[in-house]
Amino acid sequence: MTKINVTKPYLPPKSEYQQQVSEIFDNCILTNQGPKVQELESTLRKYLQAENFHYVTNGTIALQLALKALAIEDGEIITTPFSYVATTSSILWERCKPVFVDIEADNFTIDADKIEAAITPRTKAIMAVHVFGYACAIEKIQEIADRHNLKVIYDAAHSFGSRYKGQALSCYGDISTLSFHATKLFHTIEGGACIVKNKAVSERLEMIKRFGHTYDRYICLGINAKQDEFNAAMGLAIFPHLSEITAKRRQICNMYDDYLSGVVTRPKLQDGLEYNYAYYPVLFKSEDELLQVFDKLNAEDIFPRRYFYPSLNNLPYIERCYSCPVSEDISARIACLPLSTYMSDKDVERITKIIIPNIN
Ligand SMILES: *Cc1c(COP(=O)(O)O)cnc(C)c1O
Repeated sequence: MTKINVTKPYLPPKSEYQQQVSEIFDNCILTNQGPKVQELESTLRKYLQAENFHYVTNGTIALQLALKALAIEDGEIITTPFSYVATTSSILWERCKPVFVDIEADNFTIDADKIEAAITPRTKAIMAVHVFGYACAIEKIQEIADRHNLKVIYDAAHSFGSRYKGQALSCYGDISTLSFHATKLFHTIEGGACIVKNKAVSERLEMIKRFGHTYDRYICLGINAKQDEFNAAMGLAIFPHLSEITAKRRQICNMYDDYLSGVVTRPKLQDGLEYNYAYYPVLFKSEDELLQVFDKLNAEDIFPRRYFYPSLNNLPYIERCYSCPVSEDISARIACLPLSTYMSDKDVERITKIIIPNIN
Protein backbone atom coordinates (compact mmCIF):
# COMPACT_ATOMS: atom_id res chain seq x y z
CA MET A 1 0.00 0.00 0.00
CA THR A 2 1.30 3.44 -0.82
CA LYS A 3 2.07 5.94 1.87
CA ILE A 4 -0.49 8.73 2.29
CA ASN A 5 0.58 12.00 3.89
CA VAL A 6 -1.69 14.73 5.19
CA THR A 7 -1.08 16.56 1.93
CA LYS A 8 0.83 16.27 -1.32
CA PRO A 9 1.76 19.39 -3.26
CA TYR A 10 -0.10 19.81 -6.53
CA LEU A 11 2.11 19.85 -9.62
CA PRO A 12 0.90 21.08 -12.99
CA PRO A 13 1.61 19.09 -16.16
CA LYS A 14 5.39 19.21 -16.54
CA SER A 15 5.22 20.60 -20.08
CA GLU A 16 3.22 23.60 -18.85
CA TYR A 17 5.84 24.55 -16.27
CA GLN A 18 8.59 23.89 -18.83
CA GLN A 19 6.88 26.29 -21.23
CA GLN A 20 6.89 28.97 -18.53
CA VAL A 21 10.55 28.32 -17.73
CA SER A 22 11.52 28.41 -21.36
CA GLU A 23 9.97 31.89 -21.58
CA ILE A 24 12.08 32.97 -18.59
CA PHE A 25 15.18 31.79 -20.47
CA ASP A 26 14.08 33.81 -23.50
CA ASN A 27 13.44 36.93 -21.40
CA CYS A 28 16.59 36.51 -19.35
CA ILE A 29 14.92 38.35 -16.48
CA LEU A 30 15.09 36.34 -13.28
CA THR A 31 13.75 38.61 -10.57
CA ASN A 32 12.99 42.24 -9.61
CA GLN A 33 9.35 42.46 -10.63
CA GLY A 34 9.91 40.66 -13.94
CA PRO A 35 7.22 39.76 -16.46
CA LYS A 36 6.16 36.48 -14.79
CA VAL A 37 5.73 38.16 -11.42
CA GLN A 38 3.76 40.95 -13.04
CA GLU A 39 1.57 38.50 -14.94
CA LEU A 40 0.85 36.47 -11.80
CA GLU A 41 0.06 39.62 -9.85
CA SER A 42 -2.37 40.82 -12.49
CA THR A 43 -3.98 37.35 -12.76
CA LEU A 44 -4.54 37.17 -9.01
CA ARG A 45 -5.58 40.80 -8.76
CA LYS A 46 -8.34 40.05 -11.24
CA TYR A 47 -9.29 36.70 -9.69
CA LEU A 48 -9.54 38.13 -6.17
CA GLN A 49 -10.82 41.52 -7.31
CA ALA A 50 -8.10 43.02 -5.14
CA GLU A 51 -6.68 46.21 -6.57
CA ASN A 52 -3.83 46.50 -4.08
CA PHE A 53 -2.25 43.07 -4.37
CA HIS A 54 1.44 42.41 -3.59
CA TYR A 55 3.14 39.09 -4.32
CA VAL A 56 5.92 38.37 -1.79
CA THR A 57 8.34 35.58 -0.85
CA ASN A 58 6.19 33.82 1.75
CA GLY A 59 3.17 34.10 4.00
CA THR A 60 5.21 34.84 7.12
CA ILE A 61 7.00 37.85 5.67
CA ALA A 62 3.58 38.95 4.39
CA LEU A 63 2.36 39.18 8.00
CA GLN A 64 5.48 41.09 9.03
CA LEU A 65 5.12 43.48 6.10
CA ALA A 66 1.50 44.05 7.09
CA LEU A 67 2.54 45.20 10.56
CA LYS A 68 5.32 47.38 9.11
CA ALA A 69 3.12 48.94 6.43
CA LEU A 70 0.49 49.82 9.02
CA ALA A 71 3.28 51.39 11.11
CA ILE A 72 2.62 49.08 14.07
CA GLU A 73 6.01 49.10 15.75
CA ASP A 74 5.19 48.07 19.26
CA GLY A 75 2.18 47.56 21.46
CA GLU A 76 -0.30 44.75 21.78
CA ILE A 77 -1.88 42.76 18.99
CA ILE A 78 -4.97 40.76 19.81
CA THR A 79 -4.68 37.40 18.13
CA THR A 80 -5.79 33.79 18.13
CA PRO A 81 -4.03 30.90 19.85
CA PHE A 82 -5.37 28.45 17.26
CA SER A 83 -3.20 28.84 14.17
CA TYR A 84 0.12 27.97 12.65
CA VAL A 85 3.05 29.34 14.67
CA ALA A 86 3.81 32.01 12.02
CA THR A 87 0.79 34.06 13.11
CA THR A 88 2.31 34.51 16.56
CA SER A 89 5.98 34.56 15.58
CA SER A 90 5.47 37.39 13.07
CA ILE A 91 4.00 39.54 15.87
CA LEU A 92 6.93 38.79 18.18
CA TRP A 93 9.49 39.27 15.39
CA GLU A 94 8.07 42.74 14.84
CA ARG A 95 8.58 43.46 18.56
CA CYS A 96 4.88 43.55 19.35
CA LYS A 97 3.12 41.58 22.03
CA PRO A 98 0.57 38.93 21.11
CA VAL A 99 -2.47 38.98 23.37
CA PHE A 100 -4.39 35.73 23.02
CA VAL A 101 -8.16 35.65 22.91
CA ASP A 102 -9.87 32.27 22.94
CA ILE A 103 -11.68 30.78 19.92
CA GLU A 104 -15.17 29.72 19.00
CA ALA A 105 -15.84 26.04 19.59
CA ASP A 106 -17.79 25.50 16.37
CA ASN A 107 -15.46 26.95 13.73
CA PHE A 108 -12.16 27.52 15.57
CA THR A 109 -11.81 31.21 14.66
CA ILE A 110 -11.18 33.93 17.26
CA ASP A 111 -14.19 34.50 19.54
CA ALA A 112 -15.20 38.06 18.68
CA ASP A 113 -17.33 38.34 21.81
CA LYS A 114 -14.17 38.02 23.92
CA ILE A 115 -12.07 40.61 22.07
CA GLU A 116 -13.23 43.76 23.83
CA ALA A 117 -12.27 42.46 27.28
CA ALA A 118 -8.68 42.10 26.04
CA ILE A 119 -8.33 45.65 24.67
CA THR A 120 -6.04 47.99 26.62
CA PRO A 121 -4.67 51.48 25.84
CA ARG A 122 -1.67 49.71 24.23
CA THR A 123 -3.73 47.63 21.78
CA LYS A 124 -2.92 48.48 18.15
CA ALA A 125 -4.52 45.79 16.03
CA ILE A 126 -6.45 42.56 15.79
CA MET A 127 -4.73 39.75 13.87
CA ALA A 128 -7.26 37.00 13.21
CA VAL A 129 -7.07 33.84 11.10
CA HIS A 130 -9.65 32.34 8.75
CA VAL A 131 -8.71 28.92 10.08
CA PHE A 132 -8.85 26.07 7.52
CA GLY A 133 -10.63 28.48 5.14
CA TYR A 134 -13.60 29.15 7.48
CA ALA A 135 -14.48 32.81 7.93
CA CYS A 136 -13.92 34.82 11.10
CA ALA A 137 -16.82 36.90 12.44
CA ILE A 138 -15.81 39.62 9.99
CA GLU A 139 -18.60 42.13 10.67
CA LYS A 140 -18.30 41.89 14.46
CA ILE A 141 -14.52 42.23 14.35
CA GLN A 142 -14.72 45.30 12.11
CA GLU A 143 -17.27 46.91 14.40
CA ILE A 144 -15.01 46.41 17.44
CA ALA A 145 -11.97 47.70 15.52
CA ASP A 146 -13.87 50.81 14.42
CA ARG A 147 -15.08 51.50 17.94
CA HIS A 148 -11.57 51.28 19.40
CA ASN A 149 -9.62 52.65 16.44
CA LEU A 150 -7.71 49.41 15.80
CA LYS A 151 -6.32 47.97 12.58
CA VAL A 152 -7.52 44.58 11.38
CA ILE A 153 -5.09 42.12 9.81
CA TYR A 154 -6.33 38.76 8.56
CA ASP A 155 -3.92 35.89 8.22
CA ALA A 156 -5.81 34.49 5.25
CA ALA A 157 -3.20 31.80 4.50
CA HIS A 158 -5.92 29.13 4.35
CA SER A 159 -8.58 31.13 2.62
CA PHE A 160 -7.55 31.27 -1.04
CA GLY A 161 -10.60 30.28 -3.07
CA SER A 162 -13.11 30.72 -0.23
CA ARG A 163 -15.71 33.39 -0.83
CA TYR A 164 -17.71 35.23 1.79
CA LYS A 165 -20.81 37.24 0.91
CA GLY A 166 -19.80 37.40 -2.72
CA GLN A 167 -16.24 38.60 -2.12
CA ALA A 168 -12.97 36.67 -1.86
CA LEU A 169 -12.47 35.80 1.82
CA SER A 170 -8.87 36.93 1.44
CA CYS A 171 -9.84 40.57 0.83
CA TYR A 172 -11.19 41.73 4.19
CA GLY A 173 -9.66 43.93 6.91
CA ASP A 174 -7.01 46.63 6.50
CA ILE A 175 -4.63 43.98 5.20
CA SER A 176 -5.13 40.30 4.46
CA THR A 177 -2.16 38.03 3.91
CA LEU A 178 -1.93 34.83 1.88
CA SER A 179 0.55 31.97 1.78
CA PHE A 180 1.39 30.21 -1.48
CA HIS A 181 3.54 27.56 0.19
CA ALA A 182 3.70 24.21 -1.61
CA THR A 183 1.26 22.60 0.84
CA LYS A 184 -1.41 25.23 0.32
CA LEU A 185 -4.36 24.84 -2.05
CA PHE A 186 -2.81 27.23 -4.58
CA HIS A 187 0.96 27.56 -4.45
CA THR A 188 4.11 28.97 -6.04
CA ILE A 189 6.45 26.55 -4.18
CA GLU A 190 7.20 29.31 -1.66
CA GLY A 191 5.26 32.54 -1.83
CA GLY A 192 2.72 34.79 -0.25
CA ALA A 193 0.80 37.99 -0.74
CA CYS A 194 -0.56 41.08 0.95
CA ILE A 195 -3.93 42.51 -0.02
CA VAL A 196 -4.24 46.07 1.21
CA LYS A 197 -7.37 48.18 1.57
CA ASN A 198 -5.85 51.66 1.64
CA LYS A 199 -3.93 52.94 -1.39
CA ALA A 200 -1.31 54.88 0.61
CA VAL A 201 -0.62 51.87 2.85
CA SER A 202 -0.36 49.73 -0.27
CA GLU A 203 2.26 52.06 -1.78
CA ARG A 204 4.20 52.04 1.46
CA LEU A 205 4.11 48.24 1.56
CA GLU A 206 5.40 48.00 -2.02
CA MET A 207 8.30 50.29 -1.08
CA ILE A 208 9.13 48.31 2.09
CA LYS A 209 9.01 45.06 0.11
CA ARG A 210 11.93 46.23 -2.05
CA PHE A 211 14.48 47.73 0.33
CA GLY A 212 12.59 51.01 0.82
CA HIS A 213 14.08 52.83 -2.14
CA THR A 214 13.61 53.52 -5.83
CA TYR A 215 16.93 54.03 -7.60
CA ASP A 216 18.80 56.65 -5.58
CA ARG A 217 15.80 57.87 -3.62
CA TYR A 218 15.76 56.30 -0.16
CA ILE A 219 12.34 56.63 1.43
CA CYS A 220 11.97 54.29 4.39
CA LEU A 221 13.47 51.24 6.05
CA GLY A 222 12.79 48.23 3.89
CA ILE A 223 13.51 44.56 3.45
CA ASN A 224 13.79 42.15 0.55
CA ALA A 225 10.47 40.35 0.12
CA LYS A 226 10.50 40.26 -3.69
CA GLN A 227 9.57 37.04 -5.37
CA ASP A 228 11.44 35.63 -8.38
CA GLU A 229 10.34 34.57 -11.85
CA PHE A 230 10.58 30.79 -11.35
CA ASN A 231 8.22 30.83 -8.40
CA ALA A 232 5.80 33.06 -10.26
CA ALA A 233 6.02 30.66 -13.22
CA MET A 234 4.80 27.81 -11.01
CA GLY A 235 1.82 29.92 -9.99
CA LEU A 236 1.04 30.74 -13.62
CA ALA A 237 1.24 27.05 -14.55
CA ILE A 238 -1.06 26.03 -11.69
CA PHE A 239 -3.63 28.83 -11.86
CA PRO A 240 -5.48 27.51 -14.96
CA HIS A 241 -6.06 24.25 -13.06
CA LEU A 242 -7.62 25.91 -10.01
CA SER A 243 -11.18 24.81 -10.68
CA GLU A 244 -10.08 21.18 -11.29
CA ILE A 245 -8.08 21.29 -8.06
CA THR A 246 -11.05 22.57 -6.08
CA ALA A 247 -13.48 20.11 -7.69
CA LYS A 248 -11.23 17.18 -6.85
CA ARG A 249 -10.79 18.31 -3.25
CA ARG A 250 -14.54 18.85 -2.91
CA GLN A 251 -15.13 15.30 -4.10
CA ILE A 252 -12.70 13.87 -1.53
CA CYS A 253 -14.26 15.98 1.26
CA ASN A 254 -17.77 14.89 0.29
CA MET A 255 -16.69 11.25 0.39
CA TYR A 256 -15.16 11.72 3.82
CA ASP A 257 -18.47 13.30 4.89
CA ASP A 258 -20.42 10.29 3.67
CA TYR A 259 -18.28 7.85 5.64
CA LEU A 260 -17.68 9.92 8.76
CA SER A 261 -20.90 11.78 9.44
CA GLY A 262 -21.88 11.16 13.05
CA VAL A 263 -18.48 9.57 13.74
CA VAL A 264 -16.37 12.71 14.21
CA THR A 265 -17.30 16.37 14.70
CA ARG A 266 -16.78 18.81 11.83
CA PRO A 267 -16.54 22.62 11.88
CA LYS A 268 -19.70 24.57 11.20
CA LEU A 269 -19.93 26.37 7.86
CA GLN A 270 -20.97 30.00 8.22
CA ASP A 271 -23.93 31.43 6.35
CA GLY A 272 -22.64 33.22 3.28
CA LEU A 273 -19.43 31.18 3.01
CA GLU A 274 -18.48 29.32 -0.16
CA TYR A 275 -15.84 26.92 1.13
CA ASN A 276 -12.55 26.24 -0.67
CA TYR A 277 -11.98 22.66 0.62
CA ALA A 278 -8.48 23.57 1.77
CA TYR A 279 -8.43 21.11 4.69
CA TYR A 280 -10.44 18.29 6.21
CA PRO A 281 -10.27 18.87 9.98
CA VAL A 282 -12.02 16.44 12.31
CA LEU A 283 -12.55 16.69 16.03
CA PHE A 284 -12.24 13.52 18.08
CA LYS A 285 -13.94 13.05 21.45
CA SER A 286 -10.66 13.05 23.34
CA GLU A 287 -6.90 13.19 22.86
CA ASP A 288 -6.76 9.48 23.70
CA GLU A 289 -9.15 8.70 20.89
CA LEU A 290 -7.07 10.82 18.49
CA LEU A 291 -3.84 9.09 19.51
CA GLN A 292 -5.39 5.67 19.13
CA VAL A 293 -6.65 6.49 15.63
CA PHE A 294 -3.23 7.93 14.73
CA ASP A 295 -1.49 4.72 15.89
CA LYS A 296 -3.74 2.61 13.71
CA LEU A 297 -3.38 4.90 10.68
CA ASN A 298 0.39 5.27 11.04
CA ALA A 299 0.72 1.50 11.18
CA GLU A 300 -0.87 1.45 7.71
CA ASP A 301 1.46 4.18 6.40
CA ILE A 302 -1.20 6.90 6.64
CA PHE A 303 -0.13 10.18 8.21
CA PRO A 304 -2.77 12.69 9.19
CA ARG A 305 -1.49 15.68 11.13
CA ARG A 306 -2.31 17.28 14.47
CA TYR A 307 -3.18 20.71 13.23
CA PHE A 308 -2.94 22.96 15.21
CA TYR A 309 -1.16 21.64 18.24
CA PRO A 310 -0.21 22.95 20.73
CA SER A 311 -2.39 25.99 21.37
CA LEU A 312 -0.04 28.93 20.67
CA ASN A 313 -0.56 30.57 24.07
CA ASN A 314 1.49 27.64 25.42
CA LEU A 315 4.57 28.25 23.25
CA PRO A 316 7.71 28.18 25.43
CA TYR A 317 8.62 31.78 24.51
CA ILE A 318 5.26 33.27 25.50
CA GLU A 319 5.92 34.71 28.90
CA ARG A 320 2.49 35.61 30.16
CA CYS A 321 -0.03 33.00 31.12
CA TYR A 322 -3.22 33.11 29.06
CA SER A 323 -6.31 31.11 29.72
CA CYS A 324 -7.66 29.77 26.42
CA PRO A 325 -9.60 26.68 27.49
CA VAL A 326 -11.49 26.24 24.21
CA SER A 327 -8.36 26.45 22.07
CA GLU A 328 -6.46 24.13 24.40
CA ASP A 329 -9.27 21.60 24.40
CA ILE A 330 -9.66 21.67 20.61
CA SER A 331 -5.89 21.60 19.95
CA ALA A 332 -5.65 18.40 21.98
CA ARG A 333 -8.20 16.48 19.92
CA ILE A 334 -8.24 17.91 16.39
CA ALA A 335 -6.50 16.55 13.31
CA CYS A 336 -6.50 17.14 9.58
CA LEU A 337 -7.08 14.02 7.53
CA PRO A 338 -5.13 13.46 4.32
CA LEU A 339 -6.44 15.61 1.47
CA SER A 340 -4.84 16.14 -1.92
CA THR A 341 -5.73 16.04 -5.58
CA TYR A 342 -3.81 12.76 -5.89
CA MET A 343 -6.12 10.80 -3.60
CA SER A 344 -8.57 8.27 -4.94
CA ASP A 345 -11.97 7.17 -3.67
CA LYS A 346 -10.25 3.95 -2.56
CA ASP A 347 -7.83 5.94 -0.38
CA VAL A 348 -10.72 7.65 1.41
CA GLU A 349 -12.42 4.32 1.91
CA ARG A 350 -9.22 2.79 3.27
CA ILE A 351 -8.63 5.69 5.69
CA THR A 352 -12.19 5.85 7.01
CA LYS A 353 -12.36 2.05 7.45
CA ILE A 354 -9.42 2.32 9.84
CA ILE A 355 -10.87 5.32 11.70
CA ILE A 356 -14.43 4.14 12.29
CA PRO A 357 -13.79 1.01 14.43
CA ASN A 358 -11.52 3.08 16.69
CA ILE A 359 -14.16 5.64 17.59
CA ASN A 360 -16.14 4.99 20.76
C1 LIG B 1 1.24 28.45 6.05
C2 LIG B 1 0.80 29.45 7.04
C3 LIG B 1 1.54 30.61 7.30
C4 LIG B 1 2.93 30.81 6.79
O1 LIG B 1 3.05 30.86 5.44
P1 LIG B 1 4.48 30.57 4.76
O2 LIG B 1 4.22 30.90 3.33
O3 LIG B 1 4.78 29.12 4.99
O4 LIG B 1 5.47 31.47 5.40
C5 LIG B 1 0.99 31.57 8.14
N1 LIG B 1 -0.20 31.38 8.73
C6 LIG B 1 -0.92 30.26 8.53
C7 LIG B 1 -2.25 30.15 9.20
C8 LIG B 1 -0.44 29.24 7.72
O5 LIG B 1 -1.12 28.11 7.57
